[in-house]
Amino acid sequence: MKCPLCHNHTSNVKESSFNGKKYFTCSVCELVFLSPESYLEADEEKKRYVLHENNINAKGYVDFLNRIIEPSLPYLEINMHGLDYGCGPDSVLAKLLNLQNINCDYYDPFFFPKLPYKTYDFIFATECFEHFFSPTKELETILSHLKSGGLLLIMTELNLNPNKFVNWYYIRDPTHVCFYSPASFQYICQKFELEMVYSDGARVLILKKC
Ligand SMILES: [Zn+2]
Repeated sequence: MKCPLCHNHTSNVKESSFNGKKYFTCSVCELVFLSPESYLEADEEKKRYVLHENNINAKGYVDFLNRIIEPSLPYLEINMHGLDYGCGPDSVLAKLLNLQNINCDYYDPFFFPKLPYKTYDFIFATECFEHFFSPTKELETILSHLKSGGLLLIMTELNLNPNKFVNWYYIRDPTHVCFYSPASFQYICQKFELEMVYSDGARVLILKKC
């Protein structure tokens, strides 16, 4: 099995099984990833995303997005133009940024599949890194749309307790397939020439394209 982030081979990957699913842990980049045989079919995956109550009237969801918007605002300016990558069925984050007079396009492979042919000052990727089957491919796509010096603002819950991974609520969602430790993001920064300018140490990371 090849790691979908650093592409190292089986010898560096530890296998473990629980809840009827197989996971692999990469010793090079510390990514934990679900075995592809446990991936949901695309239509099943889409159905799950439709079920999420992610709209601007859902206070819980808006509060949740504010966890990344608040630390991001000091880095954003009103003349900037950004993209919400993997926005889901509704473009809530773009609407919330519009309220701050910040322009934001949106893209989602299931719901708004036309990725604008532009480069942006910033790209948000909130709660989507854990859904990526191929983080490297997705990062290459994201970064090809980000200007030099631009910001990649990520929200994904970090795998901070590998010993408690089996009991972690975050792995229960069958659409979650990749789990990153802080070391995984160090690896990402090094490989893709990004500088970490902010992290809350738990879920929110702001990376700058060098
Ligand atoms: Zn790896």
